[in-house]
Amino acid sequence: MNKKTKMVHGGIVGDPQTGAVNTPIYQVSTYKQEGVGNFKGFEYSRTGNPTRHALEELIKDLEEGHRGFAFGSGMAAITAVMMLFNSGDHIVMTDDVYGGTYRVMAKVLSRLGIESTFVDTSSLEKIESAVKENTKAIYIETPTNPLLKITDVRKVTELAKQNGLLTIVDNTFSTPYWQTPITLGADIVLHSATKYIGGHSDVVGGLVVVNSVQLGEDLHFVQNSTGGVLGPQDSWLLMRGIKTLGLRMEAHEKNTLQIVQFLTGHPGVNSVYYPGLETHPNHKVAKVQAGGFGGMVSFDVGSGEKAEEVLAKTKYFTLAESLGAVESLISLPAKMTHASIPKERRQELGITEGLIRISVGIEDAEDLIEDLKQALA
Ligand SMILES: *Cc1c(COP(=O)(O)O)cnc(C)c1O
Repeated sequence: MNKKTKMVHGGIVGDPQTGAVNTPIYQVSTYKQEGVGNFKGFEYSRTGNPTRHALEELIKDLEEGHRGFAFGSGMAAITAVMMLFNSGDHIVMTDDVYGGTYRVMAKVLSRLGIESTFVDTSSLEKIESAVKENTKAIYIETPTNPLLKITDVRKVTELAKQNGLLTIVDNTFSTPYWQTPITLGADIVLHSATKYIGGHSDVVGGLVVVNSVQLGEDLHFVQNSTGGVLGPQDSWLLMRGIKTLGLRMEAHEKNTLQIVQFLTGHPGVNSVYYPGLETHPNHKVAKVQAGGFGGMVSFDVGSGEKAEEVLAKTKYFTLAESLGAVESLISLPAKMTHASIPKERRQELGITEGLIRISVGIEDAEDLIEDLKQALA
C-alpha cells in the first residue's frame, strides 16, 4: 500500500458489528465478561479501548513498526517511553529538543535518577563522545525545533546498535508521511499528535510505535501501569485527521517552498532555517531520509523589537504556540516555546531574540506571502 492509501485503509477499517465505515467512538470504561476472565479482548479502557486500539493499529501501520500506543499528550508519550529505563540509566539527546522534553528530562526524570546529556546530534562524533558506561539510548528529534537541524537517522541507529543502545526518534515535525525512522533502523518512534497528525488545532495527544514484541509488551505494561491514555473521542479525532495527513503535508510543503523563496530574497531577513534549502548544512541527509522537508521555517529579523513588530502585524499567521495545523501560526521561540531554557543556553544554541518561527498552513500561498511582506515592511 502506498502512503495516502494506507492513511485511509490502514489499521482497522470500519466496524464489523454494523458496517459503519469508520471505527465508532466507544465511549466506555468497562466491558461485560461472559465468565470470570472470559472477555472479548477488552476488559477496562485504561488497559485497552476499541477506538484507541484502532488508532494504535493505524499509527503502527504508518510507522511500519510492531505495535502502537496512544497517550493523552506528546509529553505523556515521551514520559512513558522514559519509564522503560531505570534509575542510573543515561540517555544522549538532541540539544535543541522540544522545550517540554528538555524540561521533563532536566527537572522531573533527573529527580528519579534518569540522567541525560544534550548534544548536537547532527554530529556523530559529539554523540559518540557523550556515550557513557550507563548510556542506554540515543534520543533524537529531526528536524529540530526551532532551528530545523537535521540528524542522520541511519548513521545514529548504526552507532546505537554498535553500542547496544536503543534509538528513539521524535518524528513530530516530519510525520510518517515524509519520514519513517523505523525503516531507517530506529527502535521507537514517537509523536506529539497534537501537531500535524491531528492537524486541526483541536486535540492534544501523543503516539508511540515500537519495533519489537518485547518493547511492545514493556511499553504496554508502562501504559497500563501509569495510565496516561488517550480518550476515545480524541482517538477518533486523530484517526479523522490522519485520513488527510498526506494531502495536508503536500499542501504545507508546497506553500513552504514558496515562502522560503520569498524570505531568502527579503532584505530584512538575515537568515532562513529550512532543510529544503541547498545551503542548509544537512540538506543532503534531509533529502535522502525524508520524502519532504515539512512546513516549519525559522528566520532571523535581527532584533527582538523587530520580531515583535512582525508578530503584531501579521493577519493570517496567528500568534500562538503549537504547529502543524491547517492554519498558519507564528511565534517567537526565545519568548514563547523556548522561554524555559536559560538565556545563555539559548544563545549557545542560536535561538536569538530576533528568531521568528512559522508553521505554514494550507491557505493560499499568495495570501501568506502578501501577509509576511506587509509585516516585514
Ligand atoms: C509539541 C511537541 C511535543 C509535546 O507534545 P504535547 O502534545 O504538547 O504534549 C513533543 N515534541 C515535539 C517536537 C513537539 O512539537
